[in-house]
Amino acid sequence: MEDDRLMLDKKNPFRIAQKQLDKAAKLMGLDPQILAILREPMRIYEFNIPVKMDDGSVKVFKGFRVHHNDARGPTKGGIRFHPDETLDTVKALSMWMTWKTAVLNLPYGGAKGGVIVDPQKLSKAELERLSREYARAVARFIGPEKDIPAPDVNTNPQIMAWMVDEYSKIMGYNSFGVITGKPLEIGGSLGRTEATARGGMFVLREGARRIGLDLSKAKVAIQGHGNVGGFAHKVIKEIFGSKVVAISDVSGGLYNPNGIDYNEVMEYKSKNKGLLAGFPEAKPISNEELLEMDVDVLIPAALENQITGDNADKIKAKIVLELANGPCTPEADEILFKKKILQIPDILANAGGVTVSYFEWVQNINGYYWTEEEVYQRLDQWMTRSAKDVFDTAEKYKVEPRMGAYIVAVKRVADAIKVRGWV
Ligand code: NAD
Repeated sequence: MEDDRLMLDKKNPFRIAQKQLDKAAKLMGLDPQILAILREPMRIYEFNIPVKMDDGSVKVFKGFRVHHNDARGPTKGGIRFHPDETLDTVKALSMWMTWKTAVLNLPYGGAKGGVIVDPQKLSKAELERLSREYARAVARFIGPEKDIPAPDVNTNPQIMAWMVDEYSKIMGYNSFGVITGKPLEIGGSLGRTEATARGGMFVLREGARRIGLDLSKAKVAIQGHGNVGGFAHKVIKEIFGSKVVAISDVSGGLYNPNGIDYNEVMEYKSKNKGLLAGFPEAKPISNEELLEMDVDVLIPAALENQITGDNADKIKAKIVLELANGPCTPEADEILFKKKILQIPDILANAGGVTVSYFEWVQNINGYYWTEEEVYQRLDQWMTRSAKDVFDTAEKYKVEPRMGAYIVAVKRVADAIKVRGWV
């Protein structure tokens, strides 16, 4: 019983987020008053959303929106629809958003939202009603200069469009800048769909350069084949010519030493409920096997706590590119660092999504839209500059890149707190 509780606490994402912050604070000698502010979110909204189902009954779903810190600007962060969503997960993710926006030097703070729901079990009409009700519930807490949501696990541009529409109706005018990750028809940005995966590639390029890894010859394994992992599969081949030998999703994993073709996989998924299981051109493998595979680059792009104190020792990759949020526990971080595996931390690796979200918001405010080429060029500049900041800081302090990223980010937030006179 005691052991179970300890294990749960060890894997609790919010405890992990606090532990990571504490470690950075100690390394950089952070003012304890600022640490006290940053260890907890500024605001937590928890609410219940009644939704009329197609059969006329009403189901109640629990929703959250957490603002971790807004010292550097309006808060920013995605909304997840997930059956295992918890307040602690949302709190952790909101804190990671504060660091992510600060690492990239975007003029934002951090937030996150979620609903405890399995969207696969809802009809399209039920999903629309839930999305609109969520927007109504958070309407007074969000806004283009207050808090700007975006898509995350199991949410997408269509869901964002329903939410923007509902918010605009409540306000009485079109407010496209309130949410990013929108469809192009209502102020979305070109390049947003692939932004997280593409942004990851620019920091991967910088990381590989520093350890002398030739990405054109690299073998890659990707855990998770959704918005982020799926596009990572596409763009890593497109940009560097790397070979993706293993992929997985909730239905299981696949391995082919000769490489798994992105287009063939997408065609198969389109006919098989979006799942990989049964794809004929590869051998089925478990998710554990995928993580421990002999590859050059391992990309966790699914959920939290995939690489832990139990399996980190078995990781063989030279680089772990964290496109998922929180895929490695602090125990895993220490083991990977000792094994000299270059771990590119989530708050840097997957910040491409929020960076293009920022570009989208800027375009909405200006009413002037950029070409896809301009978006990718600017994304490259922002990601590469941030990767350099993080790796240089990690080298200076002789710590793992996650701590390098934390030191960069926490310092920027702490400076904003000080100059605003909060302490
Ligand atoms: P998604 O729902 O589109 O995809 C998740 C994928 O993971 C799916 O393929 C799913 O089948 C798979 N999966 C789920 N459980 C799994 C398991 N146990 N083993 C293997 N695969 C499993 O979500 P997404 O938007 O791609 O997000 C993935 C991760 O990236 C999350 O951690 C999210 O917070 C993070 N992220 C997303 C964005 C974004 O722009 N979408 C930006 C930054 C970070």
